Amino acid sequence: MIDYSSFTKLSYGLYIIATEHDGEKAGYAGNTGFQVTAQPETIAVSCNKDNYTTEFIQKSKKFSLSVLQKDLDVAIVGDFGFKSGHDIDKFKHYDYKSGELGIPIVTESCVAAFECMVFSEVDCGTHILFIGKVVSAEKLSDNDPLTYAYYHEHYKMRSPKNAPTYIPPEKLEEENDDESKHNREHDKKSEQTTGAPPSDYVCIICGYTYDPEVGEPSMDIPPGTPFEDLPEDFLCPICNATKEFFKEV
Ligand code: FE
Repeated sequence: MIDYSSFTKLSYGLYIIATEHDGEKAGYAGNTGFQVTAQPETIAVSCNKDNYTTEFIQKSKKFSLSVLQKDLDVAIVGDFGFKSGHDIDKFKHYDYKSGELGIPIVTESCVAAFECMVFSEVDCGTHILFIGKVVSAEKLSDNDPLTYAYYHEHYKMRSPKNAPTYIPPEKLEEENDDESKHNREHDKKSEQTTGAPPSDYVCIICGYTYDPEVGEPSMDIPPGTPFEDLPEDFLCPICNATKEFFKEV
């Protein structure tokens, strides 16, 4: 028997993992980075095969791992964690530097950074575990590192679906039944609107768009519900961001 809520008790940090191949940078936010051995200094990261960054690491055989700090603007997690390098230049708005291996090291909102040379890859099905020898390590600040538990609790975000630790909400439903019900309670009455049709709203964290014409079937929000009429405890169905993180488009 597998009790999925057990997995939520595993503890992690949150990192920006980056690399560069043929002059093109790639990076993502992930929680599965850890030190494997002290001597030689070794760090491993688990990367989803669908991540743009993964094929870059396979080609470059290098990655950097930057440790995010506890207090930060969550936009950095949104851009690196919930958006694809296919769609945006993730490095455009954040401070980074080129490391000893010639790959980007994100320094913004980070307390430490490592560069690693990959010496082993383990195919884990959906993910590849890259094991790398640390070739540079630098403390960037004395701020506290972000833990994954604090990230979920304080910033109320879900894991991206590509994360090795992602648990589909329905698998946790039983454990969180009351909370789920509470989150999904809403006023199903949609007011008649006059004049211009209601606007779409986009989640600035993950890019999810709320279309009032469609509503949000997964949360029992019926078609025709304007964003303004969504319950105050409405959460982005992708990343769990609250309504304040939505912007009219
Ligand atoms: Fe979102």
